[in-house]
Amino acid sequence: MKDSSTSLSAPVDWFNPVGREQRIKDYIQLSNQLMWQRQASFLAAAILAAFYFDPVWTFVCYTAVVLTEVLDQILGREARSWDGEDAAIGRGILRRIARNTLLSAAAISVFIVQIAIQQGEGGYFTPLFFLFSASVFAAMYNSQMIGILLLRLSIYACAFIFIALLDVIRFVPPIRSHVWLEFFTIIFVLYFIIDISLKFYFNYEERLRQMTLIQEENERTKAAYEVKSQFLSTVSHELRTPLTSIKASLELADKGMLGDVPTGLKSVIGIATKNSQRLATLIDDLLDLQKIEAGEMAFHFAPVNVNDLVSEAVDSTESYANKLGIVVTTAFSPEECWIAADRNRLMQVLHNLLSNAMKFSEQGGSVKVRVERRDTRIRVSVEDEGMGIPGNAKDRVFGKFTQVDSSDVRKVGGTGLGLNISKQIIEHHNATIDYTSDLGVGSTFFLEFDRLTDADRAGGGVNPVPLVA
Ligand code: ADP
Repeated sequence: MKDSSTSLSAPVDWFNPVGREQRIKDYIQLSNQLMWQRQASFLAAAILAAFYFDPVWTFVCYTAVVLTEVLDQILGREARSWDGEDAAIGRGILRRIARNTLLSAAAISVFIVQIAIQQGEGGYFTPLFFLFSASVFAAMYNSQMIGILLLRLSIYACAFIFIALLDVIRFVPPIRSHVWLEFFTIIFVLYFIIDISLKFYFNYEERLRQMTLIQEENERTKAAYEVKSQFLSTVSHELRTPLTSIKASLELADKGMLGDVPTGLKSVIGIATKNSQRLATLIDDLLDLQKIEAGEMAFHFAPVNVNDLVSEAVDSTESYANKLGIVVTTAFSPEECWIAADRNRLMQVLHNLLSNAMKFSEQGGSVKVRVERRDTRIRVSVEDEGMGIPGNAKDRVFGKFTQVDSSDVRKVGGTGLGLNISKQIIEHHNATIDYTSDLGVGSTFFLEFDRLTDADRAGGGVNPVPLVA
């Protein structure tokens, strides 16, 4: 079981597994990132100490500090391969972090304390400053585990107090002596270090809590999304199969192919046929949407001649145009225009643009379809003289289940999904879809693709476009 499942309200200490994996990873990652920075400061301190104090002692202490660093590096390498699953390994890593912390803090403290001892009486500016820097460094970068932080800081605190007491014990000075003033200043600095350590620690806790919340929220959203997709897919499939036969039977009856339909039934069958067609469109759109969102819609790219494709799309919508009394005119590019596309998917987009242009036009209106080459791009546009689209409606036009006019008085049917699906299909072609429109004057929807050159086609190359959403 992963640690993140443990309650957040549980008390936090380094034996507590709340976010243990994350804490260990953060600790190791940060300690690794700052490795060279630490080495540089150890080396600088060692050079100073070797120059002004005993070089042999300095060398021994510095070697000890470096060895603890090596231990940390070995542990870091092993901890990185831990996947957080096995809690026993996690506990083992924590024990080793504690042991390394103990060794490293002890080595650093001995290094600094022996400088203080060699320095003789008074001031201890250099060792105290070294200790102060090491403590602030620990406060800033060891805040992932309070136990580890406290362990390191307590060892430094012992070193601080030892140095503070050196002259007090050596000289037993009166309380008004500077020795006592230094002693109290050191205690004050210790308090300051504890205070900032706690601040860094609580900041880290808060960040971890927020991260866990975001992760949980993310998992909940994913689960809900999967349930929704599953539900949509099941419902759509269960509806689609029986509806296909209902629709086919109604269409046969409507066309009089099942024998004469009594006059009273004719209009009812006509309405039922239309509604079954609308229902079938809605289900197909839902299935497409679900496929695209689940990344399951496959695209088969091949060179496509745009003039041919548009001509075919216009032909196949002819009966719909006749039914609505719309005149469709075409203007093809005088030269061949090739693009890399999934022919069937593009046909679906063109159908959508053409049927929208027709259904949002008045009877007798005209729709112009154009194919143009614009330098390295190919543009297909569908222009109507229909009702037009108000400004600031782009989100609704390309949104899901959204229609610009969603009022009850809306004359034309639709799912509000067509353009959303079209946009997603076009984006999978590395192409663009957009429109311009004047309310009451008409709209022009256009698609723009990269043109395939003759060389591209000769090489059989099509643009590298993603195969699934
Ligand atoms: P629908 O199934 O409603 O047609 P679409 O996603 O295809 O769904 O279109 C979304 C909305 O965009 C439509 O409901 C309509 O309000 C607006 N729209 C699309 N094409 C046109 C057009 N040519 N003229 C006017 N409005 C349009």
